[in-house]
Amino acid sequence: MSSKKQLSKKDQLIALYESCCWWCGCCLPPKKLTREHLIPRSRGGSNSLENLRLACFQCNNSRGNSLYPPRWRKGCP
Ligand SMILES: [Zn+2]
Repeated sequence: MSSKKQLSKKDQLIALYESCCWWCGCCLPPKKLTREHLIPRSRGGSNSLENLRLACFQCNNSRGNSLYPPRWRKGCP
């Protein structure tokens, strides 16, 4: 009876921001995007939706542990 359908965080992010990288703006299939913390957890960022965005692998990698990516990249990888 209880049809509790809960969207994953990723699905919710896609609903909010579309399946695009938050940093470079590149739109990719969901499976090519990763969830990324706006404020890294190591810096006290929360695990809530507000602190999560979608990032492509390149942005995720080049970002490291910094608060923001070194540069706002333009265009798709
Ligand atoms: Zn990106």
